[in-house]
Amino acid sequence: MAILRSSVVGPARPTVKAKTVYAEHMESIVLFGPPGAGKGTQAQRITESTGLPQVSTGDMLRAAVAAGTQTGMEAKKYMDAGQLVPDQVIIDLIKDRIQENDAVNGVMFDGFTRTIPQAEALANITTVSHVISIEVPDERIVERICGRYTCANCGAVYHDSFKPTAEEGKCDSCGGLEFKRRADDNADTVMSRLEAYHTQTSPLGEWYNSKGIFHVIDGDRAIDQITDDIIAALK
Ligand code: ADP
Ligand code: ADP
Ligand code: ZN
Repeated sequence: MAILRSSVVGPARPTVKAKTVYAEHMESIVLFGPPGAGKGTQAQRITESTGLPQVSTGDMLRAAVAAGTQTGMEAKKYMDAGQLVPDQVIIDLIKDRIQENDAVNGVMFDGFTRTIPQAEALANITTVSHVISIEVPDERIVERICGRYTCANCGAVYHDSFKPTAEEGKCDSCGGLEFKRRADDNADTVMSRLEAYHTQTSPLGEWYNSKGIFHVIDGDRAIDQITDDIIAALK
């Protein structure tokens, strides 16, 4: 399988990898797909078995907004409008993140990369072995996003109709009792996010496909079936 080049920034890779379940050729993974495709849901399910930490640029940006940092203040106006945050802001965040100790064996990127310049920048700083593209038709996206909520304590992802908590009001994963909804998860912003996906992100699929590392997964099915297919693609 082709490996997207390149040199590694940060600590040297250890010769023995922590991952045992998966193939030796696995490096970083990119979870790719439209907003609401199920990237975060699947990342949470496969992160343990791959040994790779989930790195979500959306979560990092929301944390920066909540903390009121300069990056957060700059990003907020784009996020509220359903537009992509400028590439350089994202690339700087990722450069810092992948220098952290837990990233030494690679990471599972969720919602990054989203543009060709982001992918080119990533290729210069780390190796991507698999791009998992979760495909969901546009007509499903609005219902998915408008019903989304997450555990305020552990971040587990739920849906009003498709994935409610087993016990009402109590997180299945951590028992937490508080939940939150994203400010940008509304029908108006979803349309802009979908447009940004089709014009700016979708062309990146071709780019990764030409590198031979692009795996298409039908995301319009049960969550478990999708997880099984992703695991098969990574093996
Ligand atoms: P993304 O990270 O790609 O934006 P999420 O993982 O947050 O997507 O999923 C969006 C919403 O759709 C969440 O409410 C989630 O519970 C729900 N969802 C995820 N996968 C599926 C699926 N296969 N079928 C139905 N709903 C799903
Ligand atoms: P989604 O559920 O739409 O996949 P994310 O949590 O990944 O949502 O992203 C939320 C918002 O954060 C996006 O609409 C965009 O404004 C910004 N964002 C997240 N990741 C990126 C990225 N890689 N490039 C540019 N903007 C990003
Ligand atoms: Zn929880």
